[in-house]
Amino acid sequence: MRALVISDIHANLSALEAVLKDAGEMDEIWCLGDVVGYGPNPNEVVERLRSLPNLACCMLGNHDVAVLGEMNFAVFNTEARKSLVWQQEAITADNLEFLRGLPQDTQVRGQVTLAHGSPRDPVWEYILNTLIARLNFEAFETSYCFVGHSHIQCYFQLDLVSDRISLEVPAVNQLVRLTPRAILNPGSVGQPRDRDARASYAIYDDVAETWEPRRVAYDIAAVQKLIRAAGLPDKHAARLAEGW
Ligand code: ZN
Repeated sequence: MRALVISDIHANLSALEAVLKDAGEMDEIWCLGDVVGYGPNPNEVVERLRSLPNLACCMLGNHDVAVLGEMNFAVFNTEARKSLVWQQEAITADNLEFLRGLPQDTQVRGQVTLAHGSPRDPVWEYILNTLIARLNFEAFETSYCFVGHSHIQCYFQLDLVSDRISLEVPAVNQLVRLTPRAILNPGSVGQPRDRDARASYAIYDDVAETWEPRRVAYDIAAVQKLIRAAGLPDKHAARLAEGW
């Protein structure tokens, strides 16, 4: 089984389309959340996801929770907040219903636990260093855990012999041979933050036990135009070209 692993699409339809095309036929699609927020196309992105027959699971992200109106926006910075208010007004009742149905708790598929942020705090926690990774290795039972949220393509490897954890940033298209245990992040489809502006994703193969980090270019200028036309914060347009 080969799964397309995507996360943090953030209402960026062009980036999502580029990823779907670049990945080609996949047995399953696993989405790690933050479908909406920041970008100009929340409805189109939700509808595209709903149209995918092989979407096996889609996690609830913190921006999805915010658009659902189930939290105080004060935790977000001013620009993110502006974008969330706009998205709340733009999103249709149908698409809101889809977001409401997304799981908040971790999901398990075969040897993989899925979370938006981390297994011990699935919606909110960022795994950015080996200390936080260590605490999280104790919070799931499977060999692997896939997370999004940080928008950075990387993985944490726990060496079971030495009990050491390393943080690895694999080269694009470098096939990672998976060995238990690891926490892996496919990066962000719609707003990468690792200084590579291309849409980020990964392909997981549960038979070969491999993880393939990938990038694909998309029409950033067109998305920037849509963001500005919608009156969304200019910062959210500018950052797309720089990948931060
Ligand atoms: Zn996000």
